Amino acid sequence: ATFGTLSDRLADTFKHLRTKGKLSASDVDGTVREIRRALLDADVSLDVVKQFTARVRERALGDEVNKALNPAQQVVQIVNEELVGILGGQQRRLQFAKNPPTVIMLAGLQGAGKTTLAGKLAKHLVKEGHTPILVASDLQRPNAVNQLQVVGGQAGVPVYAPEPGNGVGDPVKVAKDGVAHAARAQHDVVIIDTAGRLGVDAELMKQASNIRKATNPDEVLFVIDAMIGQDAVATAKAFQDGVDFTGVVLSKLDGDARGGAALSVASVTGRPIIFASTGEGLDDFEPFHPDRMASRILDLGDILTLIEQAQQAFDEEEAMKVAEKLASEQFTLEDFLKQMQQLRGAGSIKKMLGMLPGAGGMKQQLENFDEREIVRTEAIIQSMTPAERKNTKLLNGSRRLRIAKGAGMTVTDVNQLVQRFEQAAKMMKTVARGGVPQIPGMGPI
Ligand code: GDP
Repeated sequence: ATFGTLSDRLADTFKHLRTKGKLSASDVDGTVREIRRALLDADVSLDVVKQFTARVRERALGDEVNKALNPAQQVVQIVNEELVGILGGQQRRLQFAKNPPTVIMLAGLQGAGKTTLAGKLAKHLVKEGHTPILVASDLQRPNAVNQLQVVGGQAGVPVYAPEPGNGVGDPVKVAKDGVAHAARAQHDVVIIDTAGRLGVDAELMKQASNIRKATNPDEVLFVIDAMIGQDAVATAKAFQDGVDFTGVVLSKLDGDARGGAALSVASVTGRPIIFASTGEGLDDFEPFHPDRMASRILDLGDILTLIEQAQQAFDEEEAMKVAEKLASEQFTLEDFLKQMQQLRGAGSIKKMLGMLPGAGGMKQQLENFDEREIVRTEAIIQSMTPAERKNTKLLNGSRRLRIAKGAGMTVTDVNQLVQRFEQAAKMMKTVARGGVPQIPGMGPI
């Protein structure tokens, strides 16, 4: 499908990123270079590519990535935002006249999909409660009037056309008469189909320009076939100079085009893409949303999932390191308290422990963790001397009584804490060695 290759290429680029934690300047440069190549290979115009990659590079080297929890994701977000930007930023809706009828003129090369679009647009407008009429000002192509009548019939809207046999009529006059007729017949929207040529030529432009002058349209929609590749930019510029247009319609987005040229059009002309056409049927049509299109191109959901998975592997490494440290060093009551406090905070230890092999059951325990217990534990540990905190073997009966009094609790509370700590210390070691921890009397957890 259109953008398929571009999507794949960008996904590949980001896959390289996702194995990294912090990004170096050379990571960023490598990524930007790959993005640049992918865009150029997809026919995005050079000017647009340059501008795009410069912005991505600048932002990717900046603080927003440096400080991000997940730099790779942040870079993808930046690419996404900049892509939305070149696609026009905000969604732009069709503009309607204050005093109906609203006049919409279609322009573009022959075969771009104007006539088909007239039907699609009409059907869309009917659904939204409008009463459109089509006007056949393409008197160039022998079958154009007939084709418009067919799509009009399918959309259930009338078509204003010159009498049969009058095929050599004046398209400017037909357009003008069509608008007048629409006003009389209380149609609130007039869609004027105009002639196209296979290539851009002066006569075509003059005719389109004259139709524009005669009908003073609220919207002039330039329809461009996404399949036309690199020519898209030149064609768009020619139509902008010759007729000028208020918006763009991308057609044939369902095809195999590389699509990049179409991506350039909004950026190069400064005109928003308003609709996208995605097939021959009248329902294969949708208002264009820059953000949705960018997500589609980036396959964002997919990419973010990949990055998350990679990030989890990364976290797991970190967790193993922490666990090793815990196992090798003496795990003290102070460590225990610190851990409990961290649990209360970010929940990060909880997350790390949860990811350790064999820690599934422990995760459940952690989830049932009682906040008040931390407060009690804190009180008890703070009543201990530093020596007692380091070595629980010192805790004889009289010391336990002293600690209980100091904390405002019972000796049983102190005993329970010491017992839980000793179990936890053992568990930490077992887990860190990759074993399944066991709590006496509870079986494997
Ligand atoms: P016009 O010369 O600009 O009026 O173009 P047409 O509306 O006659 O379209 C030219 C051809 O492209 C026709 O065969 C249409 O069925 C086809 N077409 C138009 N829009 C689309 C589209 O979005 N996708 C596909 N696949 N074909 C389309």
